[in-house]
Amino acid sequence: MTLSFRSKLLASHVALVLVAGSIALFTLDRALAADLVRQLDQRLEDQGKGAIEWAEGGKRHPDRITTRIANIVEAEVTLFEKDGTVLGASSPEARTDIGPELAAAQAGSVGRATRRRDGRDFHYVAVPGSEGTVLRLAQPLSEVNETVAAMRRRLLFASTLAVLVAIVLGILASRVASRPLSEMTTTATRLARGDFDAPIPEGDRDEFGVLWRALKSLASQLKARIGELVEEGDRLQRLMTVRRDFVANVSHELRTPVTSIQGYAETLLRKDTPPETRHQFLEVIHRQAQRIGALVEQLLALSELEARGRDDLARESVSVLSVARHVAETVAGHAEDRSVTVDVEGVDGSALVFADPEGVERALLNLVDNAVTYGKAGGNVTVTAVTTTERGREGVAIIVADDGEGIEPQHLPRIFERFYRVDSGRSRQHGGAGLGLAIVKHLIESMDGSIEVESEVGKGTRFRVTLPAPRPSMRRI
Ligand code: ADP
Repeated sequence: MTLSFRSKLLASHVALVLVAGSIALFTLDRALAADLVRQLDQRLEDQGKGAIEWAEGGKRHPDRITTRIANIVEAEVTLFEKDGTVLGASSPEARTDIGPELAAAQAGSVGRATRRRDGRDFHYVAVPGSEGTVLRLAQPLSEVNETVAAMRRRLLFASTLAVLVAIVLGILASRVASRPLSEMTTTATRLARGDFDAPIPEGDRDEFGVLWRALKSLASQLKARIGELVEEGDRLQRLMTVRRDFVANVSHELRTPVTSIQGYAETLLRKDTPPETRHQFLEVIHRQAQRIGALVEQLLALSELEARGRDDLARESVSVLSVARHVAETVAGHAEDRSVTVDVEGVDGSALVFADPEGVERALLNLVDNAVTYGKAGGNVTVTAVTTTERGREGVAIIVADDGEGIEPQHLPRIFERFYRVDSGRSRQHGGAGLGLAIVKHLIESMDGSIEVESEVGKGTRFRVTLPAPRPSMRRI
């Protein structure tokens, strides 16, 4: 059986009260008995000394005088001659009962003794007289014993009462003392169950206060730590989901061209395939292989970007005009195929960004190529640049706009996600896997820039890339 703290406290309190009470009772009892015997002894001595002369004077009628003295002092009285013979006694027992007190009195001092006679305790005091006579007074101790017994009963009653009062007080005190502990136990149990919102009082200035405050700080630390762990767990979970989705997407993207290559290759392996069909099939295989190549290229670019991180990208002054012109030249063939004109207009030759030249070109090329691909056939793509000030830092916003079909609003928040395509059929037709804009966003953000998109269905799409300008001291081309 396990006792609660309160029961233990109460038990120790009761034990303490009982032990202290018993010791007090025992000591008091002893002291009282000794005191009463001493008082009796003193009284008998005083009475003996007071009566001895009178007794010596009445020696001729020893029995009468002893009886008279006995009546006055209310004790047994015996008168002895110098040599110890009994001269007179107030009773037959007093005549025969002789003990060591007589010898002491004969030697000249007061003799005293306590002994049993006929089953009762008697106290004897023998006083020597001037003529060598000895007067002995004796009294039974029963009176003393009765007084002691009565006193003992009263003491016992009083101590029982005291113990009861002490126990009641102990119950109250143990309740008061153990209350904070039981509150603390409840709170600690709630905390252990993970309920960190359990109210924790400030506590007083005593030890319990210190404990409460320690518990509070422990709870808040635990809460924070568990919060961090949960967050970390969520993050890992998300990361795992992203990785899994990524692998699934890559496999999915590869499956179509690989299946198509397999099919066409198998047909080609057959001897009876006519030459003109062979050529056609080889072209398809070539296109699909190019598609796989482009996908692998983009995947490599992504993984390289992730591995390098922002600090490995170069930081130098880059002329927006020259990059835009270079990009326009690169897409010229593609633009011609779609009869799209690409204009670099209103870009100030002095517009500079502080970034990685290859990164800027790659991002811009992707945006312009997309504008040509998804813009209106025979339409127009423009690249413009304006200076901006964002969060106190100067920068340049490069805008790539087309007059194509635009993107429906529900797709806009997701087009920067990996493998996200608005119209997968159309996009795949162009060999796109939905990685281009994800790479652009990653690149731009790694260079401390930002990218936004605006689009109106039927009117066109505008991508706005903002990159920081070089600090004044760094401006050089
Ligand atoms: P992809 O490599 O397939 O072109 P991107 O990440 O570059 O992938 O683009 C994601 C999707 O956003 C594309 O599938 C396309 O539908 C849409 N998109 C991108 N640019 C434009 C644009 N200028 N106009 C209309 N749609 C666009």
